[in-house]
Amino acid sequence: MKFTKVNIPAKKHIALVAHDGKKTAMVTWCQTHKTTLQQHTLSATGTTGALIKSKTGLAVSPLLSGPMGGDQQIGAKIAEQQIDMLIFFWDPLSPQPHDPDVKALLRLAAVWNIPVACNEASADMLLTSTYMNEELPRAQPDYSDYIATRSR
Ligand code: PGA
Repeated sequence: MKFTKVNIPAKKHIALVAHDGKKTAMVTWCQTHKTTLQQHTLSATGTTGALIKSKTGLAVSPLLSGPMGGDQQIGAKIAEQQIDMLIFFWDPLSPQPHDPDVKALLRLAAVWNIPVACNEASADMLLTSTYMNEELPRAQPDYSDYIATRSR
């Protein structure tokens, strides 16, 4: 696989997802980082987004609820380079009905090499990085050669 250097923009599109057992933690984390978060563009799965909006006043674009396809919507946006960063507080102590979607979302974030945080400590580190106000160089998979061979 070839890679191309691209820049994650200074103003980032951040996706937020929290399982039910981690929603309180997500709201608290959003309150802590509200000043930084409001400088970026936010999308979230349905219930997570509605909670963040009502408890913090942050502007969040809602997608479908996670188990109804919201995780897959975020995965698709990552593959289309519309999401620059993922904050995903998945619950390590409860089984999820949409576990395949959870795995698929984490897989696509790894494939497309975007910054991901799965707990508060990692999310704190990402949000306090100087790269939050700057462009961040990123190696992005480049399969343009493969696409070119398909159209022959
Ligand atoms: P929700 O989805 O924000 O709609 O609860 C989160 C998830 O479980 O993926």
